[in-house]
Order: sequence, then C-alpha cells, then structure tokens
Amino acid sequence: MPNTLMTTYGRLPVSFEKGDGSWLWDTDGRRYLDAISGIAVCSLGHAHPAVTRALCEQAGQLVHTSNLYGIQRQQALGDRLTTVAGMDRVFFGNSGAEANEAAIKLARLHGHGRDIARPAIVVMEGSFHGRTLATLSATGNRKVQAGFEPLVSGFLRVPYGDLEAIATLSKNKDIVAVLVEPVQGENGIRIPNDDYLPGIRQLCDNNDWLMMLDEIQSGLCRSGEWFAWQHSGARPDVLTCAKALGNGVPIGACLARGKAAELFHPGNHGSTFGGNPLVCAAALAVIDTMDELGLAARAKALGERLLTDLHSTLDGVAGISAIRGQGLLLAIELDRPCAELVQQALDEGLLINVTAGQVVRLLPPLILGDDEATMLVDTLSTLIRRFLA
Ligand SMILES: *Cc1c(COP(=O)(O)O)cnc(C)c1O
Repeated sequence: MPNTLMTTYGRLPVSFEKGDGSWLWDTDGRRYLDAISGIAVCSLGHAHPAVTRALCEQAGQLVHTSNLYGIQRQQALGDRLTTVAGMDRVFFGNSGAEANEAAIKLARLHGHGRDIARPAIVVMEGSFHGRTLATLSATGNRKVQAGFEPLVSGFLRVPYGDLEAIATLSKNKDIVAVLVEPVQGENGIRIPNDDYLPGIRQLCDNNDWLMMLDEIQSGLCRSGEWFAWQHSGARPDVLTCAKALGNGVPIGACLARGKAAELFHPGNHGSTFGGNPLVCAAALAVIDTMDELGLAARAKALGERLLTDLHSTLDGVAGISAIRGQGLLLAIELDRPCAELVQQALDEGLLINVTAGQVVRLLPPLILGDDEATMLVDTLSTLIRRFLA
C-alpha cells in the first residue's frame, strides 16, 4: 500500500493505543515505560484524569468561538500562566515554533520602535527553535536548515555559553534581542554556567536588547522550577513555552513583560485557533495539577536522585563521556554514535531518545514514581553497558 503520510519522520516500528501515567501500551498489548513523554509534552503522564475531565467538560460546553470575542478560559489561563512565569502578558498560539515566531516579531517591533531598519537577533550555535522558516533560520543546526534556503535574515550566531562572544557584539547597532534556551534540549541537554543567564540579562539591560528565553522544553516545572530562569533570577523580557502546557493538546505561548508586553497592537499578530476554550481548559488543568502536586520540587528531587543513581551505575564504564541534568532534563553522553540504543530499549519495553548523535536523552514524566525511576535506571544502565561492551 502506498504510504499516504509525508516522510518527515523516520518512525520506530511500534504504535501505541493506550496510556496511563508513565506507561504506554502498544497495539499488541505490550507495555512500555515512557522516559521521553512525547518529547517533554506529557509531563503529567498519559491520560491524566484532571486533564481528561477538563477536556470532556469543556468539549461538552464550547470548543471554539474566535479571538474576535472575549474568551473567559483564555483570560483565566493568561492570569495563571503570567503569574507562575513572572511575566505581564501572553499571546497564545498552537505550537512552540509559533510561540517563537511571536517572539521574533516582538524583537523586530522593538527594533523598528528604536528606528533600526534591519533589526538583528543574537542566536546560539546548537540551538533549536522550530521548523517554520523564521525559527529554522534562528536554529543553530545546519541539518534543520539545509534545502530551505534562502533563510530568513536578521540572525547573528555565537557559541552557546559564551558571554564574551555576545559582549563583543555590543558595538553592532542593529542588534535588538538575544534569543537563547536556558538549557539546550535538542542539542543534548547542554547546561550553561550559572553566570550565563545573569550575564545575558546585564548585556540586554546595558544595550536596550530584549532578553528572550525559549523555555519550550525547559519550562513548566521540568527543570525543577516553574521556569528555568527562576534558578538564577535572571528574568527575561520575552519567554516562550509550549510542549508541556497542554499535556498533549496543542498550545504554545509567548509571554512578555514591561515594554515588550506593550508592543503588539490589534492587527499585528494573530492565530485562528490560538487560545481557544478547549486548549485553555486543558492548560488550566495542567497548571493547577502541577501546582497541587508540587511538581517543580518533585522534578528537582527526582532529577537529583536519577543523576546520583546513573552516576553510581555508569561512572567509570569505558565509553561514558558525561552524565548531566537539570531537574528532569537528563542526558548520558557516550563517546560514540548510539542511535541503535533507541530500538534496543524499545525491545526491553523502555522509551528513550537519542539526540545530537551520541546523547541518550531522558525526559520522563514529572509524575514518575520512585519504583519506576528504579526500573528506568536498571534497564537503561544494563542496556548501555551491553552497548558499550
Ligand atoms: C520543541 C521545541 C521547539 C519547537 O516546538 P514545536 O511545538 O515543535 O513547534 C522550539 N524550541 C525548543 C527549545 C523546543 O524544544
């Protein structure tokens, strides 16, 4: 039979039909421990009852009207999300890439407001910001860009984690913003030094640049705080989030504060579906549940425990280059490409992900239990030892 799906993904030979908490069941009824959460999306695990209830109730009442009208659920979510994020205002779209598009547009408005005709945004090597034309142009990975030239102009790239490289650009009067991930997710969980975000904050203040954080992967409790910037206190002007916000229902958000929150005016930006009653009901349930269960603290504690356990089972094994993490963004870096580990783990009933060639990435649900954490470490360390032997 011809495949009717465009071949954008190299898919694993498994399909799931049911989920519950940290577990998924495939079409043959086999059970898998999910240590990737649909790439940091299902942070509350699968089929969380609070999200299911919110979706069912809202679907029975009202799914969509339009941003031409007031939307009570969107207002309620805006109030809740800006509070936990420490921001003033929010725009809702339907994905991470769309949230970053809004951020890029804010930066350009900020620049034109300063009479800069060709505003430029500083971006990082190794970054990932999405697959739309502007966000793939901002992305620091040639594989994401190849074949889609001409790229959107107005991005200047520097090495990740290098404050000096950004400071050197202060002479360039076209720069209006810095766009950076607090932890690089797709690039293999790269964690910068503690002074990095405060240093960027200082440079942005000195030069009237917007500090824009892409927290699409790190946000919503995964790093051990509601948002990763809260570890250092370096509050951004613009912050994007998506992935975990709807626990699987598509929603993205671009938040801003201060003057950056006042840049959009009616007609500047929009989205037909953005912030409709259904997705906002789901996202409200997500934030309430994260709050009630104290999942930021849980992610921090569980992340520390997993790091300790991974170190104690894998330290000293030849072929292990690094074990690192912040909250439940975890990585085991090997000295060689290890894409085959994904299939080997699948065969053992464990879902993991390999990114950046030789990094095993773990993004387990924040509701992962202690016994499940033990199973994860046991299964994975056995697999990695076997792979490296
Ligand atoms: C996933 C991701 C994106 C893109 O989000 P989509 O919803 O796939 O468009 C952007 N930035 C980061 C850091 C991400 O992890």
